Amino acid sequence: MLIQIESNKKTGPIVGIDLGTTNSLVAIVEGGKPRVLKSSDGKSLIPSVVSFADEKQPVVGLEAKRNKVADAQHTVFSVKRLLGCGFEDLKPILESLPYTLVQDPEAGLVKIQIGDRAYTAIEISALILREVKKRAEEALGCSVTRAVITVPAYFNDSQRQATRTAGRLAGLDVLRIVNEPTAASLAYGLDKKRQGLIAVYDLGGGTFDVSILKLQDGIFEVLATRGDTQLGGDDLDQTMVRVAAQEILQSFGLDIYAEVHIHSSLLESAESVKIALSTQAEAVLELKLDTRIYRRVWTQAEFEALARPILERTREPCLSALKDAGLQASDLSDVVLVGGPSRLKIVQEIARSIFGKAPNTSVHPDEVVAEGAAIQADILAGNNQDLLLLDVVPLSLGLETYGGLMATLIHRNTRIPTVAREVFTTFVENQTGVDIHVFQGERDRVDENRSLARFKLRGIQPAPAGIPRVEVTFLIDADGILQVAAKDLKTGQEQSVEVRPSHGLTDSEVEKMLASGLENVKADEIYKNLVEARNKAEPVIRAVEKNWDQAKLLLAPDELEEVRDKLDILRQVMQGQKVEAILDATSDLNRSTVRLAELLIRDSLKEMR
Ligand code: ADP
Ligand code: MG
Repeated sequence: MLIQIESNKKTGPIVGIDLGTTNSLVAIVEGGKPRVLKSSDGKSLIPSVVSFADEKQPVVGLEAKRNKVADAQHTVFSVKRLLGCGFEDLKPILESLPYTLVQDPEAGLVKIQIGDRAYTAIEISALILREVKKRAEEALGCSVTRAVITVPAYFNDSQRQATRTAGRLAGLDVLRIVNEPTAASLAYGLDKKRQGLIAVYDLGGGTFDVSILKLQDGIFEVLATRGDTQLGGDDLDQTMVRVAAQEILQSFGLDIYAEVHIHSSLLESAESVKIALSTQAEAVLELKLDTRIYRRVWTQAEFEALARPILERTREPCLSALKDAGLQASDLSDVVLVGGPSRLKIVQEIARSIFGKAPNTSVHPDEVVAEGAAIQADILAGNNQDLLLLDVVPLSLGLETYGGLMATLIHRNTRIPTVAREVFTTFVENQTGVDIHVFQGERDRVDENRSLARFKLRGIQPAPAGIPRVEVTFLIDADGILQVAAKDLKTGQEQSVEVRPSHGLTDSEVEKMLASGLENVKADEIYKNLVEARNKAEPVIRAVEKNWDQAKLLLAPDELEEVRDKLDILRQVMQGQKVEAILDATSDLNRSTVRLAELLIRDSLKEMR
């Protein structure tokens, strides 16, 4: 007889997660069909917002989004725009973010300052993913530890690594990183069993992506992908905010950029106006400024005039993607629109003018990416053998050679996974080490591309310049994540090298965070007990309050005094964090009201007779 001690069978479902700039969603495939998991009150979107009103216990999602105005200084949104980016990358958008960014020069990281703590974008993203994981666990009634997460196709290596690290910090084993438009096309193609060439035009809150795909016999092949990591619906809000800021400065002499609260609530009002204009001809923007009120009517035409030049920025990436794929717009059988802003008429109109055909708006613009992620998860779980996803590298990868020139090893739009090897030599006599500096981008000069990582290969045998042979290998895995290795062919010795993402976290930093995450779990438990204690206390307080007038009639003065004392004590300890104190004060109040309860019951019985 055998007794099973441990099962190595991985249990639990693999979920698909759309970790959006603005909203995140989680989905699963059931009975061959993707389904977005909803909260108990039927909501599918989880706003990608984290609020630190209580620094120990941040809130995430809808509740946090409400704090965007009320507690702007402690509330972080659009963090995906910062993920895997350095300070230089972020200069163009610094002004538009109401929270404070600080530079950690040692780690090369940008951090978000909240009170006296600074958080990396990875940590904030991990908090969002933790909420997503919780949503899935509540909806499915089991623990969820494995996921597929989507990223914009245009995300570079640092941004992909950062996403993966965030998943790990949230307790998720990230089995695959998938490009968002690819995921969208999976859901679109699965549902419709379509064939042919399609463009996926995805305009989200902060990123724009376009991909050209070939769908044939269940194979989804990405032919080309382009995009803009700093373009989205947020920018439409920003232009309206700029107009309002100027008008407010003129009429009221108030600089809203200097007023965090007003700036935040203006942003929120501008977004509401934009959303309203997707279904109405006009909408009113109203903003309370201390005692005065700023009010302005926006017509659709006015809004479109402002939005058009911003949305026109999607044209160039679309045309380039078509060119990369060697196609004309007329070759496409369908243009699929994805993302919240694609509900705007002006967006549909611009997509039509770019591709010369009416776009398809049949997919659910918010849910289609998460659904596609779930389908990919289902494929990885071995359940769907009919589909195959072939993704590509969004940007060329290479290294710096003499004179600051880029030697490209892997070209843009190469299918992944892939490997490339090239041999380099030294430039200086008796050189014993070489600097390997890895870049990503399309320009000939490395200083116009993006630095990804650098390391040194040492121990090269001294030899005249040009003699040593150094073989560099670039390996891209199925997630689009790059590993670089270098080997001295003369000695045959391969050096182990650590490629550190330029704007990510090292393994040891992640370990440290994971360890402190365990402390957080403890803190979570304490918090849970606190909430439970408060939940016990609240109905008791409410009952006393409700019957207070009766109590004044029914109780003797000293009895009344006693109840009032106990009530005051409980109210006071409720302000604090001491679980025991709350439980004790609740029992005390309960005990002091026993006689009152008896009298109340007697009274009500009397009334019934
Ligand atoms: P992301 O993928 O970046 O998380 P979403 O696809 O959820 O973003 O889109 C979020 C953006 O969509 C926000 O800028 C939001 O204001 C905008 N949005 C949502 N609904 C509408 C609508 N009906 N009309 C216009 N914009 C909308
Ligand atoms: Mg999206």
